[in-house]
Amino acid sequence: MTKSSNATFLDSVNRNFDRAAAYTEIPQGILQQIKACNAVYEIRFPVRIGDKIEVIEAYRAQHSHHRMPTKGGIRYNENVDKEEVEALAALMTYKCAIVDVPFGGAKGGVKINPKEYTEDQLERITRRYTTELIRKNFIGPGIDVPAPDYGTGPREMAWIYDTYLTFKGGDIDAAGCVTGKPVSQNGIRGRNEATGRGVFYGLRELCDTGDAMKKLGLEKGLKGKKVVIQGLGNVGSFTGSIMQNEGDITIIAVSEYEGSIYSDKGIHIEELMAYRKNTGSILGFPGTTNLPNKEAALELECDILIPAALENQITADNAPRIKAKIIGEAANGPVTADAEAMLNKAGIIIVPDMFLNAGGVTVSYFEWLKNLSHMRFGRMEKRFDSNTYSNFVGLIEKMTAKQIGDREREFLTRGADEIDLVRSGLEETMVTSFQQIWETYKTKKDIDGLRSAAFVCALEKISNDYSSLGIFP
Ligand code: NAD
Repeated sequence: MTKSSNATFLDSVNRNFDRAAAYTEIPQGILQQIKACNAVYEIRFPVRIGDKIEVIEAYRAQHSHHRMPTKGGIRYNENVDKEEVEALAALMTYKCAIVDVPFGGAKGGVKINPKEYTEDQLERITRRYTTELIRKNFIGPGIDVPAPDYGTGPREMAWIYDTYLTFKGGDIDAAGCVTGKPVSQNGIRGRNEATGRGVFYGLRELCDTGDAMKKLGLEKGLKGKKVVIQGLGNVGSFTGSIMQNEGDITIIAVSEYEGSIYSDKGIHIEELMAYRKNTGSILGFPGTTNLPNKEAALELECDILIPAALENQITADNAPRIKAKIIGEAANGPVTADAEAMLNKAGIIIVPDMFLNAGGVTVSYFEWLKNLSHMRFGRMEKRFDSNTYSNFVGLIEKMTAKQIGDREREFLTRGADEIDLVRSGLEETMVTSFQQIWETYKTKKDIDGLRSAAFVCALEKISNDYSSLGIFP
C-alpha cells in the first residue's frame, strides 16, 4: 500500500530527526521523549452552512510541553489530517528551540477549503473551533497560543481572540491567547511580513558566508542572485518583495496554483500581486512567458529556489531535475527525506524550514510579550533616545562649528518605533541562529547538511531543558 502524502511528511520529519540524533550524545530515552507528540485533540463539530449542517473535522496537536505555552499556527486546508498536524507541530518544537523562543511546539488544522466558504461561514467555523479548544483547555496565553498558517491570517486570529474574550472576559492577559492579530486588535507591527522577512535575513546570511558560496561556485552576497518562488501567499509574497527591495535579487519565475511564469529580466512582485488581484491569475503578466504548468518553475536553472506553498513539493520524482544551487525552505516540509538525500549528493545547499521560516514565530513571541506587558514596544524609550541623540548632535555642531542638515538631523535623532524594534529583534535572531547552525555544520564531522546541523542545535537545547527539569518517576 502506498503512503498518503501526510504520512510521508511525518515520516520525513522523523527520519530527519533520527539522522540528526546520531550526531549527538543525547540518551535514547530523552530522544524518544523529544520525538513523541505529547497530545493531539481530534474534533468533529457541526456548523450551519446555508440550510445544511456540515460536520467539520479539525485538530490541535501539542508536540512538546518541555516549555509552556505551546505555540503554532492553524491551517485551513482540505488535506489536513492527524499526521500532518503532528508533523507540523514537531517542526514547531525544533523551530522554537533553534531561534530561542520559550515555547513548546503545536499546530492546528481545520479540514476545509476556505475558498468554498463565505466570510460569514468561515467566521462561524473559526469561532466554533476556538470554542472547542477552550472547552478542552487547549488554548490560553499560558497554555497554547495559535497563530496564522496556510489558509488563515489576521482576520481569523481576530475572531479567535474575540471568541476567547467572550468566554474568559476577566483574563487580563487574554490578548496573549493568539498571535498574528491585526495591529488594531492587540497585534504587533511587522507580524504580517515576519516570516518572509526572516527568510530574507536567513538567505542573506548564507549568501554572505564565503565558504558556502565558494562551495557552490557563486559570488558572495544576495545581490543579483536569480530566484524562483513557488507560492505567492503571505510567506512567498513578502519573501519576494523584501528580497527584491532590500536584497537586490532578480526573481526569474513565480509559480502559483494556476500555473507559472518566467522572465529573465525579472518579475516585480508587488506589480504581479496587483495584476493577480485584478485578473485572478499570474498568467499573462506583461513581460513574462507562461510555462507549461505550475511544476515547471521548480525545475528551472537558478541560484535560489524558494518553495513557499506546502509540503512534499520536491520529491524523489522531481529531485533529479532540480537545477537550483540553493533551496530555501520558506514553506514547512517542501523537500521529502528521499529527495534531500539526492539533493545533498548533488551538492545543493538546503536551508531548512525549521530555521528559515522561524521569523513568524519569532515575531509572534514579540507580540505575546507585548500582550503580557500591555504596552507597545518603544513607548517608554523613543522620546528619551531621540532627545539624547539631539543633545549629541548639538554638541557635535558646537565642537565642529558646523551645522548638520535637516535630513541628516532627522535621521540621527530618531528614536526607535515598534516596527524598528521588531525588525531589529528579528534580524538579530535570524543572524545568531544561522551562525549557530553554520558553526555546528562546520564542526560536526561528516554531517550531511544544514538540516541535520539545525536539528542538532535544537535537540541539544531541548535535551538541556529536560535535564534541568528532571524526569518525574
Ligand atoms: P498562504 O495560504 O498565505 O499562501 C500559500 C500560497 O501557495 C497560496 O497562494 C496558494 O495558492 C499557493 N499554492 C498552493 N499550492 C501550490 C502549488 N502546488 N504550486 C504553487 N502555488 C501553490 O500560506 P502561507 O501562510 O504563506 O504559508 C505557506 C507555507 O509557509 C506553509 O507551508 C506554512 O506552513 C509555512 N509557514 C507560514 C508561516 C506564516 O506566518 N504564515 C510561518 C511559518 C511557515
